Amino acid sequence: MKKISILGSTGSIGLQALDVVRMHREKFKIAGLAALENINRLEEQIEEFNPEVVAVFKKEKAEVLAGRIGRKVKIVSGMEGLLEVATLTTADIIVVSVVGSIGLLPTLEAIRYKKTIALANKETLVVAGELIMGEAEKYGAEIIPIDSEHSAVFQCLQGQDVENISRIILTASGGPFKDWTRDKIEKAEARDALKHPTWDMGRKITIDSSTLMNKGLEVIEAKWLFNVGLGKIDVVVHPQSVVHSMVEYRDNSIISQMGIPDMRVPIQYALSYPKRIKSSVKKINFNELGQLTFTLPEAEKFPCLPLAYEALKTGRTMPCVLNGANEILVEYYLQDKIGFYDIPKFIEKAMIKHEPFIYKTVDEVLEVDKWVKNWVKNEIK
Ligand code: MG
Repeated sequence: MKKISILGSTGSIGLQALDVVRMHREKFKIAGLAALENINRLEEQIEEFNPEVVAVFKKEKAEVLAGRIGRKVKIVSGMEGLLEVATLTTADIIVVSVVGSIGLLPTLEAIRYKKTIALANKETLVVAGELIMGEAEKYGAEIIPIDSEHSAVFQCLQGQDVENISRIILTASGGPFKDWTRDKIEKAEARDALKHPTWDMGRKITIDSSTLMNKGLEVIEAKWLFNVGLGKIDVVVHPQSVVHSMVEYRDNSIISQMGIPDMRVPIQYALSYPKRIKSSVKKINFNELGQLTFTLPEAEKFPCLPLAYEALKTGRTMPCVLNGANEILVEYYLQDKIGFYDIPKFIEKAMIKHEPFIYKTVDEVLEVDKWVKNWVKNEIK
């Protein structure tokens, strides 16, 4: 029986992780849950999964929840509470599915407690990949990706020698604006972007997917997870989202992982790894599948992707600036305060403004994150 804590249990990935636990009660048990503020949903989850500790990031909400459920479960709050759930002695696996750079500290703490990390929060590796991977190695903590592309690469790498990789090829759905002209995209509103064609995801990641920033962040994430050189990570647009990503080896053979797009597959693999267990997710039906297509991404329509490559190439604190600026800009775009191309425009401005440096601690990274978020807020005003 594996015991699991979920950071971000009321979000899209958290709910699907609980789905997997629900389907495999004999294999998995919930140790701890953490969420930002959705205490109604947390209350249902406590009822169903009976965790030991529950963290609610917003203190006022934690108090309301504690008042409702009494002493049945220990309720904690704030970053302290998040850290408590991340380091619970009884938990073997920590699912990190909170959104944004808030995932950084709890991931790091969980690593130091030698937990297995099932990582869905890509910002953690984007912002502080070098630090996180270094600590994971030092403490012998395993990091298993949940992001579908990285799970695919991780699966394609099983039994293979890393030295034999010639290229990692991440697939991108292309988002809802793939076939739109630049002029039309320029006027696109958040509600257009939220109609994602193939994946069911949270709001922030859906916008990131429409700008291709999601893929840019994934390129950076892949660099740290798989320790490959910058020139060895490519992106292809594959709108059907059936091939979840590929690895090309030195003999030019490509190994891919395929399946119906459903996040419960990579979540389940991260939880059951190294074993494979049964899934209720639909099988591929080759009769219905039709054509699978692959094209290269269009940089002039989606400038966020080249910006991400540039941030990775510059390295140091630059990916943190890219990510921090993007977080704020996506928020503004969701509130209809800025246009689609303001997102890359202000990210680029922030990158020009910032002088990247080599960081040694999480505090330094978080300081840069804070700086860039404030800087963007002031620029937009
Ligand atoms: Mg992905």
